[in-house]
Amino acid sequence: MKKMKFDAAIIGGGVVGSAIAWKLASKGAKTVLLEKDDICSGASCTNPGFCVLSYRENALTMSLALRQQRQWESLQDEIGDVEYEATGGLIPLTDESQEEALSKLCSHAKKLGLDDIGLISAKEAINLEPALSETRIIGACWCPGEGRVNPFKLNLRMADKAKSLGAKLMPHTPLEKMIVENGRVKTLITPGGEIEAELVILATGAWTKDAAKMAGVSVPVFYERGEAMVSMPVAPLLKRIITDGALFTGAPDERGFVIGAALTQTKDGNVVIAQATTRPSNYDKSNTLEGMKRVAERALYLFPTLNELEIIRMWSGLVSYTADKQPIFGIYRDIENLFIVNSFHSAIAISPLIAEMVADYWKTGIIPQEAKAYTPNRFNT
Ligand SMILES: Cc1cc2nc3c(=O)[nH]c(=O)nc-3n(C[C@H](O)[C@H](O)[C@H](O)COP(=O)(O)OP(=O)(O)OC[C@H]3O[C@@H](n4cnc5c(N)ncnc54)[C@H](O)[C@@H]3O)c2cc1C
Repeated sequence: MKKMKFDAAIIGGGVVGSAIAWKLASKGAKTVLLEKDDICSGASCTNPGFCVLSYRENALTMSLALRQQRQWESLQDEIGDVEYEATGGLIPLTDESQEEALSKLCSHAKKLGLDDIGLISAKEAINLEPALSETRIIGACWCPGEGRVNPFKLNLRMADKAKSLGAKLMPHTPLEKMIVENGRVKTLITPGGEIEAELVILATGAWTKDAAKMAGVSVPVFYERGEAMVSMPVAPLLKRIITDGALFTGAPDERGFVIGAALTQTKDGNVVIAQATTRPSNYDKSNTLEGMKRVAERALYLFPTLNELEIIRMWSGLVSYTADKQPIFGIYRDIENLFIVNSFHSAIAISPLIAEMVADYWKTGIIPQEAKAYTPNRFNT
């Protein structure tokens, strides 16, 4: 069996793992990235690439998102075009409960440091997004600093950059087993050989519970399935990233669905429409007719003129969340070189800066003060 040694081994080639590989390699770490399927084949290839500010859950992720908002140009200079567009983000509201929820969200976002967000009238919303239904919306939440990237390009370009800096990328190489000795992960067993690394980073998204179990570690990470669809390219229709206000009030219904329309039109003219959310078992990524039908109905409720759109593809992705709905970031208590990075909500835009924190940890052994609350050791497992 082939044996290899690295400073850092990252498991998972989504945006988070690929960003970590890039940032570690750029700091001089001898780095390997293991991915069980293709690079960019998990949740990171299933989303419309919204770069979210408005619904950041805590001060850490808000500060990362605000910093990244100012860095897209320099990021693209460094890794290449990821189709960043400063579209602004609109959350149309169709009833008073949504208005109340979004008013609270605006206050929360302002407390976290996002000044430029607020509720606007229906008329103002229609000026910003003329295809919205005049009769159905009662107002909107507007966040001008939001934007959109092409998530495939971001993921793949970060992985390519890591490779160009000397990182070894191992797609189609699942981590199958971890050998733990004296409180350290000693060896990673894969079909491509045995790997030793000073630091082992689990960036395994929805699969983190199983990956951590290989080291005898139990973390309360679960997953949900988000279903989405995309249309044929059409003439410009939508200008902004649009997130349905219904997604901020809806608890799962009696059939287990949370339904809302999150839409955007890509540079090539395709309209991407997400999402129906459910909680499946066995990593089931199939689409449901009910979910897609209800999302389409909701999209048409907000944008009646989309009724001629021809949908060409649908898919779903599995996204992780934790018991307390906050991310996990840090070393697991009993295993001194096992670093878990998981459940950062809407991780696309903040992945480069999450990765920078991991690379800084590798270099200095320091976790930033504002990230300490997200230690995996906060759970009583
Ligand atoms: C429909 C939908 C819409 C979304 N919209 C947005 C949005 O607009 N903006 C946004 O920021 N976020 C959005 N998200 C969420 C976003 O996709 C995730 O936050 C992000 O992709 C998580 O990245 P990740 O690298 O942590 O996970 P993933 O991309 O899932 O990567 C984890 C990787 O680990 C690999 N892996 C797991 N176990 C092993 C193993 N044992 N060995 C080797 N490899 C392993 C998996 O194959 C996978 O590739 C959306 C999600 C969905 C489903």
